[in-house]
Amino acid sequence: MSKITKVVARQVFDSRGNPTIEAEIFVKNLSSSSICPSGASTGTYEAFEKRDKANKKYLGKSVFIPVKYINTVISKKLKNQNIHNQERIDHILIKLDGTKQKKKIGANAILAVSMAAKKLSAKIKKIPLYKNFLVKSNYKLPYPLMNIINGGAHANNRLRIQEFMIRPDRAKSFSESVRMCFIVINNLKKLIKQMGYSTSVGDEGGFAPMINDNESALKLIVKAINLSGFKNGKDISICLDVAANELIKNKKYSIHSKKFISVDKSIQNYLKLIKKYKIKSIEDPFGENDWTAWNKFLSKTQKIQIVGDDLFVTNLERLKVGFLNMSANSILIKLNQIGTVTETLEVIKFAQLIGYKTIISHRSGDSEDSFIADLAVGTNSNQIKTGSLARSERVAKYNQLIRIEEKLGKYSKMNTI
Ligand code: PEP
Ligand code: MG
Repeated sequence: MSKITKVVARQVFDSRGNPTIEAEIFVKNLSSSSICPSGASTGTYEAFEKRDKANKKYLGKSVFIPVKYINTVISKKLKNQNIHNQERIDHILIKLDGTKQKKKIGANAILAVSMAAKKLSAKIKKIPLYKNFLVKSNYKLPYPLMNIINGGAHANNRLRIQEFMIRPDRAKSFSESVRMCFIVINNLKKLIKQMGYSTSVGDEGGFAPMINDNESALKLIVKAINLSGFKNGKDISICLDVAANELIKNKKYSIHSKKFISVDKSIQNYLKLIKKYKIKSIEDPFGENDWTAWNKFLSKTQKIQIVGDDLFVTNLERLKVGFLNMSANSILIKLNQIGTVTETLEVIKFAQLIGYKTIISHRSGDSEDSFIADLAVGTNSNQIKTGSLARSERVAKYNQLIRIEEKLGKYSKMNTI
């Protein structure tokens, strides 16, 4: 048995320059560390992110209190536990917190420790991290959902939809999928320049031009796909994350323009966009409590991917409600929405059992930690959403998947979309 000797935590910084937690876990002189990411458009039902609100030195955003908790209480509690028993480690952390949303210790502290443990277990077993999850053979690479235009809470332009993404559906390998996106991104950059807009990027590495409306962005993407010699809707598909939680007031939505309109009218507008731009996936089309709207929408969009992010918050209870309500057919998986590796794997297993697609996701505030790349392969997840081919915290995940594909060699296959 490999017994944990100690856990050490420190405050480091995420891609938005905000403080976050890095935890390092030790078995004798061997250690692994992991960094917790942080969202901007967060769901109400997500696990809690603990910060030192009263400490104005870092504008109330520092994490010294949860860091200290790891260094003292958690380190002591986990001492002598078997590093390979992830369920036990996570159970101890969950019990130590004792609240539904991990409000006492903070999910950011718990998750950093949980991920670090999973990494160290793989290191001690001398296996790559992706082999330390659910899949034991026949590893498959996920399709990237690559974010190419940022709006909403991730940019300071006027785009209402948060993420405009492309998915290279006809790619035969992961490296080819990245190449296809690379070509489109370069053509998109040219087009944005020609229009006289800035080619600076948003939080997730996609361009953030000062475009006013969703359709202008969609037209631009179709143009870039065509210019790249690809067929929209066949070789490459357009996918969206609306993040509609941010666009709701009195049960009305301002998704398609500044004007708030009813669910029925919003659905009509969505259907027009889906047809016109051959959109293949829509995440969070409606708010996190609007189960009726989700159900209505799903019944009218059976052929495309409808993804629950803020709706499910990687939470088994909410996924079960959504399944019974027929709300979606896919789930976005974000480790820090629930707070431990074990609970994340439980949600993935259940989602796959009910026939949902699983999409592993970064957060808009992320880091050089590429844990989610291995998680995607190790859980047989269909897709990964981890930003654009810009900003090292996004590219780190793509690079890790390229390495995994190379290691798998002739055994590597793409997953189903
Ligand atoms: C998302 O909404 O899917 C996302 C990645 O953004 P954030 O991390 O800000 O929630
Ligand atoms: Mg989302």
